[in-house]
Amino acid sequence: MPFLRIAMPTPLYRSFDYLPPTNIIPATLEALQPGMRVLAPFGPRKLVGVLLAVTEHSDVPEKQLKAAEALLDSKPLLDDAMLALCQWAANYYLHPLGDVLQHALPSYLRKPSAIPEPTETRWQLSSEGKGLPEGALKRAPKQAALLQLLQKESSINQQQLLAQGLNKSHLRNLINKGLAEEISVSLAHRHQSRNTEALLPLNHEQQIALDSIQAKTGYQCALIDGITGSGKTEVYLQLISQCLKEGKQALVLIPEIGLSPQTLSRFQRRFDTPIALMHSALNDRERCVAWQQAASGHARVVIGTRSAIFSIMPELGLIIIDEEHDASYKQQDGFRYSARDLGIKRAFDANIPIVLGSATPSLESLHNAQQGRYQHLRLTERAGKATSPSIELIDIKNQALNNGFSQHLLDAIYREIQQQNQVLIFINRRGFAPVLMCNDCGFIAQCNHCDARLTVHYQDKKLRCHHCDSKWSLPTSCPECKSSNIDFQGTGTERSEQILRYLFPDTEVIRIDRDTTSRKHAMGNMIEHIHQQQACILVGTQMLAKGHHFPNVTLVAMLDIDSGLFSADFRGPERTAQLLTQVAGRAGRAEKPGKVMLQTRQADHPFMQQLINNSYTAFAQQLITERQTLGLPPFSYLALIRADHTDLATTEQFLYDLRQQTEATQQVQCLGPLPAIMTRKAGRFRAQLILQAPTRALLHQRLSQMLHIAAQHPLERKLRWSIDVDPIEAV
Ligand code: ADP
Ligand code: ZN
Ligand code: ZN
Repeated sequence: MPFLRIAMPTPLYRSFDYLPPTNIIPATLEALQPGMRVLAPFGPRKLVGVLLAVTEHSDVPEKQLKAAEALLDSKPLLDDAMLALCQWAANYYLHPLGDVLQHALPSYLRKPSAIPEPTETRWQLSSEGKGLPEGALKRAPKQAALLQLLQKESSINQQQLLAQGLNKSHLRNLINKGLAEEISVSLAHRHQSRNTEALLPLNHEQQIALDSIQAKTGYQCALIDGITGSGKTEVYLQLISQCLKEGKQALVLIPEIGLSPQTLSRFQRRFDTPIALMHSALNDRERCVAWQQAASGHARVVIGTRSAIFSIMPELGLIIIDEEHDASYKQQDGFRYSARDLGIKRAFDANIPIVLGSATPSLESLHNAQQGRYQHLRLTERAGKATSPSIELIDIKNQALNNGFSQHLLDAIYREIQQQNQVLIFINRRGFAPVLMCNDCGFIAQCNHCDARLTVHYQDKKLRCHHCDSKWSLPTSCPECKSSNIDFQGTGTERSEQILRYLFPDTEVIRIDRDTTSRKHAMGNMIEHIHQQQACILVGTQMLAKGHHFPNVTLVAMLDIDSGLFSADFRGPERTAQLLTQVAGRAGRAEKPGKVMLQTRQADHPFMQQLINNSYTAFAQQLITERQTLGLPPFSYLALIRADHTDLATTEQFLYDLRQQTEATQQVQCLGPLPAIMTRKAGRFRAQLILQAPTRALLHQRLSQMLHIAAQHPLERKLRWSIDVDPIEAV
């Protein structure tokens, strides 16, 4: 009787041996392959694990082994390449393999369910709808647009809907009127042929980029370092086109908020081939169907956010990571992997090209390019008609501001809206004001559970903690001294919106932040609205910064650029420069030239001058030199071990033991336990160890020792702890 070695979904760093299910027949036993799912008893529960191997030997005496309950698949769900990638990731990120493998499965298949039938929900006109004349429903423009689409397409799916800037609520309106109906269509063989757009003739730099990548066969990593609007996407599209011609599949990763209808429709208009989308708006079943479409080879292109890096693609020929610097590629809890870095490993193993693209590449990628590990391809000019925006600093030191706005900026806004242009105001803080303070006694509203101030949300009449989500009602007098002389200090998006409405009563002001876009489709609707608008003012957080194409925006302003540039995190300047460049990239995307204005109290600081007088590239170069001097990444390797507990001493004791009970070497620096920047969050005290090493091997050596100590530590089960390799969050 063989043994089944199974990775179970547990936080334990080991696999488990089982006997085969008792009812299994010998033929099935022979067909067992790694990558199949097995349902097996685990404590009082039954869990879905992944078969790693069938072995002749187990270290556990046979009497003590339990039998697995059932084999769930007749073919492996995870192929050898994916199993190998997961194993590598488990070692690299020091994370339990069982949990890594769960990430590789769509959540629908983490339960003992079978792969759903590959069907797709589509919508078509009902017979009553078919009877409507063209141009009907004029008074509801969205419904009219949807009607037109349905008249043209016979039936549509969700992708087609979204690509047109429409959503399910528009559909529901038509369905409720009896004009449209929902149908379920098998995806097994169907692909509705579409007319596709031709490739654009490339400009010189684009052509060089394309040729250089295509000149090589096998693995390569190419960094397309191209300013916003320089035509990176066009180069991706032509690479994909070639990949498809060779009969291979392409995987495209985009940042979490980059999946705009515009991006999607651009891919759809180009390729007459099934495209699988994997993003957060899908439900578990839809996601699983998309996953299955990729795994069966039916879908030739997969476009998705971070976790799409785990798509099974048997004929994978190309990986593209758009906006490679984006923080959303790094998972910030649990299995803390970087989809970009896994992408590089995956491309290497599969011996295929990977392309990283960004207007603001991470210092790591720039460094790798300079070291010759990546091809460095530059696109320095905007494609098409658009020109690059000009940047102006507004020195607000010793200036009276009107709710965060300088008069100079307000004048500039006025001029733009006079000319029917759109203005984008960027402020990285939601809510009305970040501080509630009593002018008489100096009381400041603080969260009870966190070391943080409460943010005033004026419309909801609430004080909210942005770190633990707790809420209090907004006091009308000081809770300490009962004075009514309380003050809201500082400016958030809500306050900016209010003051702009007041100052520009005839202009529409649209606020885009997490509070105004939390409803499904809200963001899409707003973006659509903005496209139709003439003059308007957009106020928002960094949600506004990425990917969107607002052709009528001619002025972009940042109210407070200093907070990021001079923050405690050593990545602060890099992030701010990226953000600034991306935000600036929203200005003047079309024919109208754009302008960027930055309010700062540090106008003379060399950083500031560097940032505005030079390109991102020059600024990044400066930062790289500085990192080298300080021995920070990419010139060293970092890992964090975080822990938290309701008692600070317990947290620190645990980390202290990890440090003390592992072998100290000169090369690997270990700092800590240090309290986190915000020590108390949601009632728990947080601290960390910081490991810094000149090589990955040395870093991993010490980390694995610590992991070993941690696993056996008496406090291990009492507190929460995690390892973060290549952390990108504040240290
Ligand atoms: P990026 O991805 O670098 O931001 P895009 O590929 O989105 O740039 O290109 C910006 C704009 O320029 C798009 O409207 C695109 O259609 C257009 N464009 C790109 N390449 C060309 C080209 N070779 N000729 C004409 N227009 C182009
Ligand atoms: Zn008071
Ligand atoms: Zn809190």
